[in-house]
Amino acid sequence: METINNLVCIICPKGCRITIEYEISENKSKAIKSISGFSCPKGKFYAEQEILEPLRTLTTTIKTSYKEHARLAVRSDSEIPLAQLIPVIKYLRTIVIKQPISAGTCIVKNPLGLKTNIIAADDIL
Ligand code: SF4
Repeated sequence: METINNLVCIICPKGCRITIEYEISENKSKAIKSISGFSCPKGKFYAEQEILEPLRTLTTTIKTSYKEHARLAVRSDSEIPLAQLIPVIKYLRTIVIKQPISAGTCIVKNPLGLKTNIIAADDIL
């Protein structure tokens, strides 16, 4: 099935409007046929990534044992595949923080085998 997507590039303030034509095969794999509208290689790479394997930074909270600070804000220290956001969030729901934490501390290293770490975005002191 042939599909056309229009994206606004978010890499820089110019905000180029990029059009991508791609084919989705029966096994759901995607093959890009053409990309237009970008003004630089970064925009072309961004558009390819958005179609083939979109990435996002995960931001969420983790439960703590402190009444006055019941949840700790956390984030991934790098982008992860969009499809992995919900599985990682479900995994983080199984964790309870029981000790003081400083912002930037690694809470979980390589969750679900991903090449990222979940770090504290706030303090519990
Ligand atoms: S394509 Fe290049 S110039 Fe255009 S918004 Fe993206 S990064 Fe900026």
